Amino acid sequence: MIKDPVCGMALSENTAKEKLVYQGRTHYFCSTLCKQMFEREPDRYALSAKKNEKKSSTLS
Ligand SMILES: [Zn+2]
Repeated sequence: MIKDPVCGMALSENTAKEKLVYQGRTHYFCSTLCKQMFEREPDRYALSAKKNEKKSSTLS
């Protein structure tokens, strides 16, 4: 299952209207608007998408 990082809508590769590769990850979007919002603040959305992963405070 793929999630639109902007609006949180559940998507599949077939239903996603837009996709964007950011920092080596492919992000899928339900609409061009969501993609544009991601492009405006990619770190904000990319970080929230990462929330489910184990956070390591020893980066850098
Ligand atoms: Zn969306």
